[in-house]
Amino acid sequence: MTTPLSSSSALHDLGVHDLAHALAAKHVSAVELAQHFLDRAAAHTDLGAFVAVDADTTLAQARAADNRIANGTAGALEGVPIAHKDIFVTKDFVTTAGSRMLQTYQSPFDATVVAKLAQAGVVTLGKLNCDEFAMGSANENSAICAVGHTQVAPVRNPWNRERIPGGSSGGSATAVAARLAPAATGTDTGGSIRQPASFCGLTGIKPTYGRASRYGMVAFASSLDQAGPMARSAQDCALLLSAMCGPDLDRDSTSLDVSVEDFSLKLNDSIEGLRIGIPKEFFGDGLAADVRSAIDAALKEYEKLGAKLVPISLPRTELSIPVYYIIAPAEASSNLSRFDGVKFGHRAKNYTDLADMYQKTRAEGFGDEVKRRIMIGTYVLSHGYYDAYYLQAQKIRRMIADDFQNAFKNCDLIAGPVAPTVAWKIGAHKDPLADYLADIFTLPGSLAGLPGMSVPVGFGEGGMPVGMQLLGNYLQESRLLNAAHRFQQATDWHARTPKGF
Ligand code: GLN
Repeated sequence: MTTPLSSSSALHDLGVHDLAHALAAKHVSAVELAQHFLDRAAAHTDLGAFVAVDADTTLAQARAADNRIANGTAGALEGVPIAHKDIFVTKDFVTTAGSRMLQTYQSPFDATVVAKLAQAGVVTLGKLNCDEFAMGSANENSAICAVGHTQVAPVRNPWNRERIPGGSSGGSATAVAARLAPAATGTDTGGSIRQPASFCGLTGIKPTYGRASRYGMVAFASSLDQAGPMARSAQDCALLLSAMCGPDLDRDSTSLDVSVEDFSLKLNDSIEGLRIGIPKEFFGDGLAADVRSAIDAALKEYEKLGAKLVPISLPRTELSIPVYYIIAPAEASSNLSRFDGVKFGHRAKNYTDLADMYQKTRAEGFGDEVKRRIMIGTYVLSHGYYDAYYLQAQKIRRMIADDFQNAFKNCDLIAGPVAPTVAWKIGAHKDPLADYLADIFTLPGSLAGLPGMSVPVGFGEGGMPVGMQLLGNYLQESRLLNAAHRFQQATDWHARTPKGF
């Protein structure tokens, strides 16, 4: 064993890149590593990050990885342990999507993203808490009791246990920030990778819509849902994203027919002359001063690295909130119609006839936020309101996408905040609208289907992490990761660890 691995306490400080190398060089075994992270997850159940663990399954996967390393058939990430947001179906673990409706659901197959990561050699540590059907910004909408808990409890932010970790991929963010896993998968419909990454001091990337297959991702809003990695560095995100993406046209017709890319190749390219667009609408009154000053400092760092800041405008930024909160619920109301007590999931015990069974099943199985969205979605799609709401929202969605194309005539990337504030206190947002409004900076990129990242750039109020958002044009993930990596070579915000972890 080499020095950095001689004490087991150092294992969880290593990222995906270093662990993959240590495994390949046989400085550590996949079994040893899996056990180390399982022990850490067991020691930190108070955080509420995991909703399913199964040591036997994890260790069996790790043994298989060790065998492949021994016989020279290892994949690029052989033996690296990660955990999955519990919205990806998995055949070896229950898949709840944070809902009572799927509390005991066992999938007969793995989601494409899960299967692709497994092909690369990744070992699964378990499933991570999330908002019910990925609807939320604080992970306060999960109906599932985390491992080690006897009732539903909020997921805690490791930087301050009284704060939310963000959502909907809150369990993923907490697990990685607390070093219970070197990385995790997440999904982003309107910001659910970028925002929790920002709130927990992590690096996360949502690729271009269609880059990663949605097959086996429990559907929320199909025209927006996209999978991506959450890790500590852009380098680790590049490795994971390369393994996750690729066409899957037989199973997801919206999957892009573009060949698999190695997103690590351009990480070290110079960013001299890179034009970073600064949208004035992202820096208005709604942006908290602490977040703003961390972003401003990061932009100065980019200038030192040779980038040029270009003022741009995304004039329909504010409209992204009503547009998203019409389109996403509309699609959700349709997607969630499958949970009727007949095909899978929860079924009410007592009912009089079929209609009563549907009603009771759905009343019992869905939580308040999901019901709210089904009602909004059904309303905006109904005869007489369709033109006024849904169709109008679709038209503005197109204009939002066009605004980005105009902006990209003058810049290569766009930078701004991920969220208007740092992570708020658990329970602070009493009104769901407060959560919706806080999505303002992530929604435009989602509606346009663009790739976006969150990169740690400092700390704000209460010592909570601040993330900067980078948005790129379609299929420009390499450029985003390159810009993030160069920044991370020059700064150490991404390497900070919350106290006690
Ligand atoms: N906060 C947004 C919502 O509640 C985004 C969620 C997501 O990206 N899954 O819909």
